[in-house]
Amino acid sequence: RAKELGNSYAFYNPEIGALPERRFSMERELRRALERNEFELFFQPQIDLATGNCVGAEALIRWRHPEKGLILPDQFIPVAESTGLIVPMGAWVIRSACPHLKSWREAGMAPLRLTVNVSVKQFERGGLIQTLESSMRESGVDSRLLEIEVTESVLMQHPMASDTLRELSRMGILISIDDFGTGYSSLSYLKKLPVYKLKIDRSFVTTLPVDPDMLAITTAIVTMGSALRLKTIAEGVESREQLDILRRLGCDEIQGYYYSRPLPNDTFMTWVREKST
Ligand code: C2E
Ligand code: CA
Ligand code: CA
Ligand code: CA
Repeated sequence: RAKELGNSYAFYNPEIGALPERRFSMERELRRALERNEFELFFQPQIDLATGNCVGAEALIRWRHPEKGLILPDQFIPVAESTGLIVPMGAWVIRSACPHLKSWREAGMAPLRLTVNVSVKQFERGGLIQTLESSMRESGVDSRLLEIEVTESVLMQHPMASDTLRELSRMGILISIDDFGTGYSSLSYLKKLPVYKLKIDRSFVTTLPVDPDMLAITTAIVTMGSALRLKTIAEGVESREQLDILRRLGCDEIQGYYYSRPLPNDTFMTWVREKST
């Protein structure tokens, strides 16, 4: 086992989970990385299918490790979740996201929405509303430009989540359901909670052109979304073919490698400028 994990990048193996001692040393490393400010946000554009304009971005965390280089979230988010470190890490994400929104406006870019991923743990431990409130206040950003992505499991695992979501909605923050269709939850919450957007999971989009079942599921989500007056966005769009199908179905927005990978801030700003000229 030690040998399997010998590769310095393999902090976490989704098949076996992190070994206890491995988990412990990684927890220490993550804590130190937070103190030393080694995390960074990348931004992936979200495109309005009707106009072709970039209308927003998803903030995705990266760890710029001093020796190991850029580490992707799959390598550390699971440990952060299981140790509770995702709470301060998630607060860091929110506090970092807001000044970016402000600097994009100051640089003369058209207003973009920025969406951040919020973990179920951030709902459990509280502090989410205060973190969002103080971050928006300090950077003076319009709450309507800030969006959060939660998975269906948040709504199922945490009974208080619906109160928090209602409060966030009152603050003007938009709420998207991430990985929609993979959570096996009841659909009744869509009517009860202030949901703004459904994010169609990449697993449905990936096989869209060839798999009739995935096409049926995607069609059903887009149709239901529009009947319930919810916006729909598809993630993981990699080809023109997938884009054309989604456009035909009436999906509102897309995000994926077809347009752009997640980009560091300066590259993202250049990308948006070039796209809009
Ligand atoms: P997610 O929220 O489902 O994010 C989408 C992931 O799909 C991102 O991976 C993105 O780079 C990738 N992706 C986007 N377009 C394409 C495409 O066309 N093809 C393919 N193959 N992949 C695409 P990433 O950045 O590695 O993030 C992985 C997961 O880590 C995220 O999945 C999310 O669950 C988690 N994560 C990332 N940042 C944060 C964060 O700040 N907080 C929390 N709690 N979780 C985060
Ligand atoms: Ca997401
Ligand atoms: Ca997703
Ligand atoms: Ca996903």
